[in-house]
Amino acid sequence: MNPRFHIGQKVVALKTFRATNGKTGIVKGQVYPVLDLRSSKCRCREWEVYVGVDEYGFMQCVNCGFTSREPEYQWWFSESHFAPIDELDEKLQNIFDEALSEIEQGELIAI
Ligand SMILES: [Zn+2]
Repeated sequence: MNPRFHIGQKVVALKTFRATNGKTGIVKGQVYPVLDLRSSKCRCREWEVYVGVDEYGFMQCVNCGFTSREPEYQWWFSESHFAPIDELDEKLQNIFDEALSEIEQGELIAI
């Protein structure tokens, strides 16, 4: 099966994942660039994306619970946690950007 995304594409996160230290992760509604793709190491045989989030150590597949050590600092996420931004119109992108800047200014609480 081919990946849903291609390298260089912009995707929006559908879920929030935070590292245990709270410093890194992905935030629902935020747009990320697909920097790399790989086939998952677990039996799910999914595609995973790297969007520039780095976190040492340990990864767990949310579907099957498979865990693996990641010697490189890249945090890989299942492609199912993202939607392609290309299919959204520019208006929607602007709404995301506005919401993000409001979150950054502390006017909204991220969900
Ligand atoms: Zn899995």
